[in-house]
Amino acid sequence: MSFEQSKFVWVNGAIVPWEKATFHVSAHALHYGSGVFEGIRCYDTVNGPAIFRLREHLERLFASAKFYEMKIPYTLEQLDAACREVVRRNGFRACYLRPICFYGSSALSVHPRNCPVESAIFAWQWGAYLGAKGDEHGARICVSPWRKFHPSMMPTTAKACGQYINSILAVQDAVRRGFDEALLLDRDGEIAEGSGENLFVVKNGGIVTNDERHSILFGVTRDAVIQIARDLGVPVETRAMTLEELEGADEAFFTGTAVEVTPIEQLDEKKIGRAVPGPITKKIRDVFRAATSGRDTRYAHWLRPVD
Ligand code: PMP
Repeated sequence: MSFEQSKFVWVNGAIVPWEKATFHVSAHALHYGSGVFEGIRCYDTVNGPAIFRLREHLERLFASAKFYEMKIPYTLEQLDAACREVVRRNGFRACYLRPICFYGSSALSVHPRNCPVESAIFAWQWGAYLGAKGDEHGARICVSPWRKFHPSMMPTTAKACGQYINSILAVQDAVRRGFDEALLLDRDGEIAEGSGENLFVVKNGGIVTNDERHSILFGVTRDAVIQIARDLGVPVETRAMTLEELEGADEAFFTGTAVEVTPIEQLDEKKIGRAVPGPITKKIRDVFRAATSGRDTRYAHWLRPVD
């Protein structure tokens, strides 16, 4: 991952050179994490660059902002146009887009009153999140000693900057112990999610995932995978998942914009299933790739052309 190829950033309504996209050290969000953001992929499809489920991501951005009483001073349509403009101006065909809206500089009382809402969108070229190894051989994950915060503490369905401190602790612990990624349990000891991914378990030919009752962010990829599975005739169940169930699963995989569909090879010291990727994971991943590359026209409505 590198920002080197990124030349232009959209900042508060205008495209500026990368090095001019700066904010003051007194910005509220820097101190208290009072921002909301999205992570979105643009794919080099058979019909040119197209942004995957841009509308759903921007809807989640506005929903996240609402929790924090943040009024984003742009419409969804304006941010949609801005995202496409950022891809175009940087000349990218495939990239990762990061829209962010945050409370800026005015005062540092915890209540962000009077702080301006700053908005920016930038993009960079980002390959496989868990590395090429994770993509082809599966991720090695561990159960985190850090629990995912409960929805009575913070809105788990919001993608807010400060909320990621919980994920940072978990992934730092995992990497320190030699794993690729952390799996967080919820307050009640049931499975929540990865530091930046939703989890699916495969058992007896069907897939299982959890929902907001188990402290997760509603992933856009999670939703796409559920739809793909249904279209494949693979039964989908949404309910609590336990560690025992994951350990005894036929297959398991993570979903997320960064990781896309990544098989899980190992949980702590135990291997999961037999082959990686397992047959159901592979089937779903193949259709997901066909959808994001524009080869499967059933999912053409998920692709927002840049041009
Ligand atoms: N959970 C968390 C905590 C995340 O950060 C992400 C990545 N946005 C996801 C799940 C997956 O969401 P999506 O598929 O929308 O990227």
